[in-house]
Amino acid sequence: MENSKKLRSWLDAFHLSHPLVIAGPCSAETEEQVLKIAHQLKDTDATVLRAGIWKPRTRPGNFEGVGALGLKWLQKAKQETGMLITTEVANAHHVDLALQHDVDILWVGARTTVSPFMVQEIADALKGTDKTVLVKNPVNPDLALWIGAVERFYEADIHNLGVIHRGFSTYEKTRYRNNPEWQIPIDLQNRFPDLPLILDPSHIAGRRDIIFDLCQTALDLNYDGLMIETHYDPDNAWSDAKQQITPQRLEQMTVDLRIRKEVG
Ligand code: PEP
Ligand code: MN
Repeated sequence: MENSKKLRSWLDAFHLSHPLVIAGPCSAETEEQVLKIAHQLKDTDATVLRAGIWKPRTRPGNFEGVGALGLKWLQKAKQETGMLITTEVANAHHVDLALQHDVDILWVGARTTVSPFMVQEIADALKGTDKTVLVKNPVNPDLALWIGAVERFYEADIHNLGVIHRGFSTYEKTRYRNNPEWQIPIDLQNRFPDLPLILDPSHIAGRRDIIFDLCQTALDLNYDGLMIETHYDPDNAWSDAKQQITPQRLEQMTVDLRIRKEVG
C-alpha cells in the first residue's frame, strides 16, 4: 500500500490504521451476540465494529433487523472494547437515533443510494455534524447515481466521506452474488481522488471461500479499507449466513494479507 499517498484525513483524525478494517455481523441479533463478536474482534486488526440493525431485505419474510434496540448493544460494545461502531441508516429518523447513541460512522446501503430523495434526507439530517459517512454503491451498475449521492453529502458539508464498493447486481448468474465491475469504483475515484475507497467483499462474494481473493485484489488496487461480515457462528447467522467468516478466520486473513496495525 502506498500509505502516504492514500492516507486520508479522517483516518488520521480517528487514529485509525490503514488500511481500515471494519468487521462484525451482517445483523445485530442479540446483545450477547454483538458483545461476543466485539470481544473476539477487539484484538484483531479490525478497529471498527459493524452491525446492521435496520435491514433492508429485498423480499419480505426475512429477518428485518432488531431496530433501535440494537443501538444500545453497539454502544455497550464500544464502551467495553474501545472499538468504533458503524451501522446502516436509511432515513432521517435512523440518523437521529444513531447520533443519539454515539455511532461513529454511518453507512448508506446499496438500496438507499439508488434513491436521491432518501440520500438527500440523510444528508440534510447530518448537516452541521462532523460524522463520517460511507456511501455504498447503488445495487445496479449506475455510476451517476453513486456520484450523485457523494455530491449530495459534499453539498451538505459532510466532508468525512468515504465510499464502499459492494458489487453490482446482474440478471446473469455468475460466481459472485454481486459482480465486482472493478472499473466502476476506479471511475468514481477518478472523479473524487480524495475519497477513501473501501471494499465490502462479503456482499460481492455471497460465499466465504472467495473473500480472501477479493480482499487481495482490492489491496493490490490500493483500496483504503475492507468491510468484512464476521460472526462466531456464520452458518447460523440470521442473515447472509453463507458469506460471513469467523473472527479467527478474519485474523488469519489480515495476517496473510499483510495488514498490520499502524496508528495514524
Ligand atoms: C449489509 O451491509 O449488510 C447490507 C445490507 O449491504 P448492502 O446495502 O451492500 O446490500
Ligand atoms: Mn449483509
